[in-house]
Amino acid sequence: MKHIRNFCIIAHIDHGKSTLADRLLDFTGSVTEREKQDQLLDSMDLERERGITIKSHAIQMEYTYKGEQYILNLIDTPGHVDFSYEVSRSIAACEGALLIVDAAQSIQAQTISNLYLALENDLEIIPILNKIDLPSANPEEVSDDIVDLLGCKHEDIIPASGKTGLGVDKILEAIIERIPAPKGNPDEPLQALIFDSVYNPFRGVETYFRVMNGEIKKGQKIKFVATGKTYFADEVGTLKLTQHPKNAVKTGDVGYLITGIKDAREVKVGDTITDALNPTINAIEGFENVKPMVFAGIYPVDTEDYEELRSSMEKLQLNDASLVFTPESSAALGFGFRCGFLGMLHLEIIQERLEREFDMTVITTVPNVSYQAYTKRNPDEVIIVNNPSDLPEPTLLDRVEEPFIKATIITKSDFVGNVMSLCIEKRGIITNQTYLTPERVELNFDMPLAEIVFDFYDRLKTVSKGYASFDYSPIGMRESKLVRVDVLINAHSVDALSALIHADNAYNIGKKMCEKLRELIPRQQFDIPIQAAIGAKIISRETIKALRKDVTAKCYGGDISRKRKLLEKQKKGKKRMRQVGNVEIPQQAFMAVLKLN
Ligand code: GDP
Ligand code: MG
Repeated sequence: MKHIRNFCIIAHIDHGKSTLADRLLDFTGSVTEREKQDQLLDSMDLERERGITIKSHAIQMEYTYKGEQYILNLIDTPGHVDFSYEVSRSIAACEGALLIVDAAQSIQAQTISNLYLALENDLEIIPILNKIDLPSANPEEVSDDIVDLLGCKHEDIIPASGKTGLGVDKILEAIIERIPAPKGNPDEPLQALIFDSVYNPFRGVETYFRVMNGEIKKGQKIKFVATGKTYFADEVGTLKLTQHPKNAVKTGDVGYLITGIKDAREVKVGDTITDALNPTINAIEGFENVKPMVFAGIYPVDTEDYEELRSSMEKLQLNDASLVFTPESSAALGFGFRCGFLGMLHLEIIQERLEREFDMTVITTVPNVSYQAYTKRNPDEVIIVNNPSDLPEPTLLDRVEEPFIKATIITKSDFVGNVMSLCIEKRGIITNQTYLTPERVELNFDMPLAEIVFDFYDRLKTVSKGYASFDYSPIGMRESKLVRVDVLINAHSVDALSALIHADNAYNIGKKMCEKLRELIPRQQFDIPIQAAIGAKIISRETIKALRKDVTAKCYGGDISRKRKLLEKQKKGKKRMRQVGNVEIPQQAFMAVLKLN
């Protein structure tokens, strides 16, 4: 145990966490030439393309320092707010953290939120001033910022570059010298924290854990405390780039477990593994069931593909336990599923995976958060509203509550005005404003989650010219004046286009939705009226004018080969369009309400 160090790397996105992790692996000889690829830790194709780490991974390095051999367990953490629970579990498995700060960007919102998580878990923090090779690096000023934030000394900060490899030796030295060895008692019953799991189609779910007390042995009968299920540890071992089976993984160490579990939902991140016959009395603190934040309908483009979609979603869920879904039906779209996601990025990833891995073309409806409604008749009974159509009629409704978050935004003082206007427009209430330095300001707002899960990031980037970073955490439900705005296309109400909107904004948004839909829905042979309504009351109207005859002739007449090409292209692309009544509605129209500005 004396020779084990468990650490994670925390950073704001793009500050160089993955690059530096690769450097550490390189320097400690943990990768063979053949295994060398850029960004080793981001293994999923999608992660590589998007440059984000979706799932956290663990990896073990060996390093000889002053003649003694050490085992260094690096636990990589995802960098996006959608996956923040996984960050907190990874942090709980460590004794120390490398806090990476980009020498050109300085401290950003996720630097701070991840640092707080690390401090809550009493981790030893090693500050690293990264990317000092950049011409735009500002090492003195950024070092001052770090000293201010941590209350550390200038000498504690390690200047480094993941690009050139500078400072990597100093970092390894600091990991050994400054991070405490794990504590824990080898003689106590097994107590291990699950901080991650990965689905492997051949071997089932691989569970990653950190042993706090006792040890986990091959063949041992074990129990997961939160789920209460028991299994046999078919295989245990440590993780390098590949798995290394062992007879046991001991106190303080990090490893993997294979039990033949085929469904990712049985393994819950944050749960405790213990011995089934001699269980520990204490579960490791802090376990939460992760709750989806964003809901949307997913429908097959082709109604005949419903069953195929169901089996694809089931397979995806085996692999991604944070995806939840229940069947639903829509008058406009037929049979589909109401799905819960951790956030908008998660939604996009699921949609993309359905397409790439299962060849499913789907329509996603307007996403919404989860509301709680109460009726006048039964004001104590909560009605969970994950779909706008579940909101009781205005006449029956007593009140609605929506989830609120605490938003943390760090920006330059020049942009404070812009950021405030944006947040106030999004129904935010400012709660705090702190000048971190004369140029950098931290702002805190209480805001409705619904306002930030959609286009908030993009807007924030625009109003701050890219100089704002953002993070949030949930703070509970609050009452709001919400109404359902319905959309009628050609006099048919299209339930999949309904949205819950604050009463004060409903007219304005209804109007913008009609305008946007007029742009997005292709013209047809007849006039198409588009209306927005609250209950029976029409609040806005636009018309898509019929195509004129000569226009059609120009597009489709004459050139047969061109027409054929067009048809083929359409077939191949399996257009994301849905026929509703006699009008074709493209996918973008379903998302229109999110991009009205
Ligand atoms: P992560 O999001 O924190 O994992 O960041 P990445 O490691 O993916 O790095 C983000 C970007 O910064 C990539 O384009 C890297 O090539 C680049 N980068 C990372 N470290 C350095 C560095 O030390 N110097 C320079 N110049 N670029 C770096
Ligand atoms: Mg990364």
